[in-house]
Amino acid sequence: MNTVPSPYDWIESSLATIHRAHWYRSPRIIRGLPGPVVEVEGRSLINFASNDYLGLAGDERLKEAAIATIQTYGTGSTGSRLLSGHRPIHAELESAIATWKGTEDAIVFSSGYLTNLGTITTLVGKRDLIIGDEYNHSSLKNGAKLSGAHIVDYRHADMDDLRDQLQQTRHEYRRCLLLTDSIFSMDGDLCPLPEILEFAEQYSCMVLVDEAHGTGVLGATGAGCVEHFGCSGLPLIQMGTMSKALGSLGGYVAGSAQLTDFLRNRAATWIYTTGLSPADTAAALAAIEVIQAEPQRREWLWLRVAQLKDAIAQLPQVQTGEWRLLPSDSPIVCLQMQNPEMVLKVSQQLLENGIYAPAIRPPTVPTSRIRISLMATHQPKDIEQLVRVLHCLHKMGR
Ligand SMILES: *Cc1c(COP(=O)(O)O)cnc(C)c1O
Repeated sequence: MNTVPSPYDWIESSLATIHRAHWYRSPRIIRGLPGPVVEVEGRSLINFASNDYLGLAGDERLKEAAIATIQTYGTGSTGSRLLSGHRPIHAELESAIATWKGTEDAIVFSSGYLTNLGTITTLVGKRDLIIGDEYNHSSLKNGAKLSGAHIVDYRHADMDDLRDQLQQTRHEYRRCLLLTDSIFSMDGDLCPLPEILEFAEQYSCMVLVDEAHGTGVLGATGAGCVEHFGCSGLPLIQMGTMSKALGSLGGYVAGSAQLTDFLRNRAATWIYTTGLSPADTAAALAAIEVIQAEPQRREWLWLRVAQLKDAIAQLPQVQTGEWRLLPSDSPIVCLQMQNPEMVLKVSQQLLENGIYAPAIRPPTVPTSRIRISLMATHQPKDIEQLVRVLHCLHKMGR
């Protein structure tokens, strides 16, 4: 028997640790078109796991736009944007985003994650300070780490804590960047943007707001939380993704022309990566057109959100305090439970009853929860079915 230890042995024991903590995860294959009902492992399930809030990822108009663009420009961008990968469709999309967001310009990256990594590392460095919400998305946190700036977290949405951190640390650094999700991706609540912008002015800080879950969902025209709060036109950096309500792929930054110009010259994750594919670019552009032409999609979405929240509040498990409905201002509605085993069990029971709603556990979030995300294309009966099954789990003593 070979007893020489392999330098890769640690992977096996690390995986075992993940299993023991009930943190182990693996992807499930989903077949067919995206939508409120999907096929998972041979079964038809009501889908409460999608970020496709407006039901556009399977929309004919987006598919047709992508196909037509492939006919014109082919499948790959063939190079970085500064070399051979810049196509007319990229410029059209950037201009559509800027118009929608009410900014001078916009720049499109190949993913939302890359957008945050590239933008944050371009804006701040070793002599600078980043102060961010403790619940910020992984891409904001890792962008902050990669920048080399001094990083301070404030307690979730806690403006007293933000003020204290600014008072204590701001003067020791050159530039300061405040980072926040607009809608928090694993909780569904909204950042206090107007207060954050006031502090930014008072303490001379830049602000980057991540509208991944706000774009297409919040505000009179669906432009996001910045529009929702009436903060359009104020100095701030709006980033977001085309991968959620826009039903496509890619990320963007919308802001001043100087900002986007600077990013085109300095953001490594834009300069040294291949341009977003023509098909993804065209689908995102078509989505923006549909979102503006069909405000009723947001109305349907918010009706479903109200229906679900009302029904969940009536659940016996919520009334007794065993489960907790986390505060939400969005189509992301979370049911917090005691431990990872419990959410896994509930998620499994839902699955057995034709409902797909994932268990979200540490280390992704501090407390275990069932995360339900709604779509404009869910039917009232889909939500009734979800609530009926949750109600039954109570009778079964779970
Ligand atoms: C999904 C998400 C991202 C990353 O966007 P991708 O386009 O999927 O890479 C960034 N920030 C937040 C808050 C997100 O939820």
